[in-house]
Amino acid sequence: MSSLFPALDAGSERPALRFGDRSLTYGELRSAAAATAARLDGAERVAVWATPTLETAVAVVAALLAGVPAVPLNPRTGGRELTHIVTDSRPALVLAAPADELPDALGGLERLDVTVTGTGTVPPGAKGSGAPDPEAAALVVYTSGTTGPPKGAVLPRRAIAASLDALEDAWGWTSDDVLVHALPLFHVHGLILGVLGPLRRGGSVRHLGRFTTGGVARELAAGGTMLFGVPTMYHRIAEALDDDPQLAKALAGARLLVSGSAALPVHEHRRIAALTGRRVVERYGMTETLMNTSVRADDIEPRTGSVGVPLPGVDLRLVEDDGAEITVYDGETVGEIQVKGPNLFTGYLNRPDATAAAFDGDWFRTGDMAVRDTDGSVRIVGRRATDLIKSGGFKIGAGEIENALLGHPGVREAAVTGEPDPDLGERIVAWIVPADRDAPPAAEDLADHVAAQLAPHKRPRTVRYLDVLPRNDMGKIMKRALHG
Ligand code: ATP
Ligand code: MG
Repeated sequence: MSSLFPALDAGSERPALRFGDRSLTYGELRSAAAATAARLDGAERVAVWATPTLETAVAVVAALLAGVPAVPLNPRTGGRELTHIVTDSRPALVLAAPADELPDALGGLERLDVTVTGTGTVPPGAKGSGAPDPEAAALVVYTSGTTGPPKGAVLPRRAIAASLDALEDAWGWTSDDVLVHALPLFHVHGLILGVLGPLRRGGSVRHLGRFTTGGVARELAAGGTMLFGVPTMYHRIAEALDDDPQLAKALAGARLLVSGSAALPVHEHRRIAALTGRRVVERYGMTETLMNTSVRADDIEPRTGSVGVPLPGVDLRLVEDDGAEITVYDGETVGEIQVKGPNLFTGYLNRPDATAAAFDGDWFRTGDMAVRDTDGSVRIVGRRATDLIKSGGFKIGAGEIENALLGHPGVREAAVTGEPDPDLGERIVAWIVPADRDAPPAAEDLADHVAAQLAPHKRPRTVRYLDVLPRNDMGKIMKRALHG
């Protein structure tokens, strides 16, 4: 792996990036990124104000060329989280598009404007030129903060290359692929898979700026071959499909529809398949590990609710509470997913304690709980911290109850948590956004529905109604905010 981006080195005239009506070929991208890279020389670490723009992509490529680790910042986070990330990562400066306004929370950090029309060549002495050290930090990406304050995962070039190449294998990803992209650029999904992925393959990206179902339909119809989305996007697509034949046609024509970052509910998988004849391929990853598993694009089995098999190079095991590894795959025994492989991060920035706690030898403890089906494919039941409910002597995954509730016609959104209960240890609580706010389904009706679909001991004991569920920028449900 001498370079992350062979097509960029070649400086070809092929299209690389398009954001709205502005685009860059590989040659133009190389020239613009090199111009910025030349100004980063000597910096220990830089931040990137990661708006969904061409400038952000140029800034990140520039930092990679200069061999200076980049920290993408979420421009939509509130002051406190931003202050936490900037204080923790202490960037030398922040790269931003000239039009971006930066908030006070950046604490007067020196600013460097990124232009997409700059011209330059990569400075010969830059750490990122020549044969860069595969173990050198390339990016520091903060976790989503779903279970606690975000932690900075230090990602070496080796991990980025390994994970993207494993996806090439699983998805048959080529330089002919045109990715339709509408995700934010400050997490692994939108930045590493969505921007660096196509650039590594020599393919191209069309970013919508803002997600709309109309934009997805238009770009897929105009030659897009792949769509990467999070479950909230597929939910909106499924809702729109009912009366949008153009959208259905566009999705049916795509080569690959991928979902990740959180579980795609089973009924959403089914709705999209029924309306388009296409299935959504689910993959599972984390900031710390990049991608761990995926349904393979050439897999002919229906894989609703499965995140597929370990990617090439990834070792994956399930470990029970007593430390025993699950060796017989029965689709029922739940264990924690642990992984090792070249896709792993090197550690959390400034958090040797958290890094040490996250590993068992070489194995990274994901905190995600799963079962493996008899053919070895992985089915996630939820996170250890928030989705595993111990009730009446049973270990119950919140995810399957959420899936059952979402299959009830009166439910628009559902989240399930456990609350302390004197009799049961924990009591199952369902948080429901009703389909019709004026006629919410009765608690008893919902509990009976779950009991009939799953088992009597999985019935929610308490139902609470909300107008919306608290979600972060990736559409993940923030369960720690539910209990206030
Ligand atoms: P934090 O670690 O700060 O609490 P986070 O874990 O949400 O936040 P990320 O690294 O962005 O931060 O997300 C990784 C997590 O997302 C995984 O551990 C897993 O729980 C969840 N996830 C990702 N893909 C899937 C999927 N296909 N199905 C179910 N869960 C998924
Ligand atoms: Mg996490």
